[in-house]
Amino acid sequence: MKQLPVNKNEQYEVVIDDLTHEGMGVAKVNGYALFIPNVLIGERVKIKVVKTNKGFGYGKLMEVIEPSKERVEPICDVYGTCGGCQLQHMSYEEQLRFKENLVKNNVERIGHFDDVEVRPIIGMEESLHYRNKAQVPVRMQDGKIAAGFFRPRSHDIIDMKKCYIQHEENDELIQLVRDVMEELHIEPYDEENHRGVIRHIMTRIGVNTNQVMLVLVTRAQKIPMKELFIEKIVERFPNVTSIIQNINAKRTNVILGEKNNVLYGSATIQDYIGDIYFEISPHSFFQVNPVQTEKLYKEALHAAQLTGKETVIDAYSGIGTISLFLAKQANKVYGVEIVPEAIEDAKRNAALNDIHNVEFFVGKAELVLEKWKEDGIHADVIVVDPPRKGCDANLLETIIAMEPKRMVYVSCNPATLARDLRILVDGGFNVEYVQPVDMFPQTNHVECVSLLQRETI
Ligand code: SAH
Repeated sequence: MKQLPVNKNEQYEVVIDDLTHEGMGVAKVNGYALFIPNVLIGERVKIKVVKTNKGFGYGKLMEVIEPSKERVEPICDVYGTCGGCQLQHMSYEEQLRFKENLVKNNVERIGHFDDVEVRPIIGMEESLHYRNKAQVPVRMQDGKIAAGFFRPRSHDIIDMKKCYIQHEENDELIQLVRDVMEELHIEPYDEENHRGVIRHIMTRIGVNTNQVMLVLVTRAQKIPMKELFIEKIVERFPNVTSIIQNINAKRTNVILGEKNNVLYGSATIQDYIGDIYFEISPHSFFQVNPVQTEKLYKEALHAAQLTGKETVIDAYSGIGTISLFLAKQANKVYGVEIVPEAIEDAKRNAALNDIHNVEFFVGKAELVLEKWKEDGIHADVIVVDPPRKGCDANLLETIIAMEPKRMVYVSCNPATLARDLRILVDGGFNVEYVQPVDMFPQTNHVECVSLLQRETI
């Protein structure tokens, strides 16, 4: 085998030239690229090579020799081992610049645009404690009950008392459940032998209503000392408004089973986004950062420029959140989503909010819109909010053929957004702007809203 320019386990002093889209530093040693977590652009660092491939390798930070002025002390003890956050060593202002640049780079390099306006990113005032939902596995480790996240690519639990991006009440409730399990000797799940009682603890808080749901995911129907268990939790955490047992009897990595039993309080919790009210059950998808979600949806609504006369299609509608916002200002909204349960939620949420000018359909957006096109349905505005892989190519073709006046593209992946914008521009749209929004501070994710208009000749 040809000799590589670096040796595994050897240490090198390098300067960080760039960051990848995941936030990993890039440095070159004799022309050979190394990717290194927890470093910043311009820093001089000592690293150890931990993995080598043919064309590139990975390094581990050993010492910061010349730190960047944007370096901050990570707030969390398990930062770097847990894997949930990637940017805690970066000041929040620098995180925002990193994300904005990432969007610009993708638009230029993947979309091949040199004239698209990327607006200043919309950040958060408080960049910690933003998540409204936590779900952690529970296992016996070293004779104690551990609750936390799995170490990446393993089933070891990083036992932690606090996750700094979580709403504080979620952390407190998880700790409390663990304490009560210890007190009553309720066994956590034993994956190897498929025994034990509690597999996962999930908590979700309605941040605008202060309602809290606790879901205990159990292997079997029976929870020993169930009444006492519930009593102790309610006594020590009076904010809890709903305790649900979810039964998952399978040997699987999927967290939730199908069946829910209400153990205390109501079967759902409620929350608002803007002035729209949502009822959330254990299985419902609900955006995890409600403060930024409101800003994101306002941007999407603003981009749609509705006057009350328009017919709007919301593709990849989930539980209908964006559809309901749009419906308040449109003549008619059609939502399409592939998951039947999400459409059930969407219909219920429409009824709850007394919104009647919206209809939801289960199906693949690419097939349903094609059918609508064949049936001669015209949309003035089409909104899409696809998963990370972006829009299906057939869907984009159909949208181009349907000739809506405007399109609003909500994206959680700037790379596929840039790819799809190019296809839409080649099909006759103009990109008016791309607006990044930081929905997940401390992590390498960035969300965008983009407005496209059809060129009128
Ligand atoms: N707009 C919603 C959800 C967006 S997430 C919100 O803001 O809450 C993307 C959604 O696309 C998911 O609900 C997923 O189930 C759905 N989805 C994935 N592939 C799809 C397809 N081919 N057709 C329709 N929906 C799809």
